[in-house]
Amino acid sequence: MRAVVFDAVRSQPEVREVADPVAPPGGVVLRVMASGLCRSDWHAWAGHEEVALPHVPGHELAGVVAAVGPQVRRWSVGDRVTVPFVCACGRCEWCRGGQAQVCPDQQQPGFTHWGSFAERVALHAADTNLVALPQSVDFATAAALGCRFATAYRALAGRARVRPGEWVTVIGAGGVGLSAVMIGYALGARVIAVDRHPEALAAASAVGAEHTLLAGDVAAIPELTGGGGHVSVDAVGSEQTCAAAIHSLRRRGRHVQVGLLPPVGGHPRVPMDRVIGWELDVLGSHGMAAADYPEMLALIGQGRLEPQRLIERTVGLAEAAALLPGFDRATVAGMTMVDPSR
Ligand SMILES: [Zn+2]
Ligand SMILES: [Zn+2]
Repeated sequence: MRAVVFDAVRSQPEVREVADPVAPPGGVVLRVMASGLCRSDWHAWAGHEEVALPHVPGHELAGVVAAVGPQVRRWSVGDRVTVPFVCACGRCEWCRGGQAQVCPDQQQPGFTHWGSFAERVALHAADTNLVALPQSVDFATAAALGCRFATAYRALAGRARVRPGEWVTVIGAGGVGLSAVMIGYALGARVIAVDRHPEALAAASAVGAEHTLLAGDVAAIPELTGGGGHVSVDAVGSEQTCAAAIHSLRRRGRHVQVGLLPPVGGHPRVPMDRVIGWELDVLGSHGMAAADYPEMLALIGQGRLEPQRLIERTVGLAEAAALLPGFDRATVAGMTMVDPSR
């Protein structure tokens, strides 16, 4: 098969003929129909995540089952599917309890093994991780759920349990943030988007933000919302944006931390005085289990959620290989989708 391969950290990826993957005993091989290009792929290429070399990136995918391992019960060749970006083991207490998103024994295509910037990809524990695509959801739309949209959905619907009419503040209108704005709006919330860039705020308005604020103007939120938002989302992941999000809340509000806050130079400071005094909930959110996808896919099938609107361009494998090294500086606001058949 053809795949995007890199041989060393920060070496130029190239498209090459490599051996076809083999289905693991409990897994499948998919023919990849669409794969999102994401900053996490760049992090793996740049050496921020340890991957075995040579490596094929790609973790936001949808496709058709092409081969099935002997222990797989639920899936057959020809099934149209997607997977969460973290694939769970299917055996541990968390998986058995329906919380596969925190499985301690996760496999991630594009990180723990070769990913989906290829014509085919192997996936583990298929009975736990595969998600059937309704006919109404095309492959690019499913791949656009990727890590960003699914994470935003889990944050708002699963963790914060956003209710219609609530005020939701989303800080950062990049991939995750725009997804959160669209999802908040679809759940019936009144969304305020905050970003440093006016273009990002214009994009947020287009997907459902009722108000948009430049980052310096977050102090206006309590007045806009009659005392603060019900829910805040930090989609950036810095000490400043986390604190701004928490301070935007009303008493008893819920904050969801989605942007990664790596403990660079110690753990970030969080305004716990406000958390305690106002009884705020501070929630973490990490991906989404396959079992939780059908609810989100139903909203997409009804046209209430349109992740495909976040796709800005579609490229082939060769262009994906060319784009990857500069992806941290990419200027496109929306998603880049890879079509391996191009
Ligand atoms: Zn598990
Ligand atoms: Zn991703």
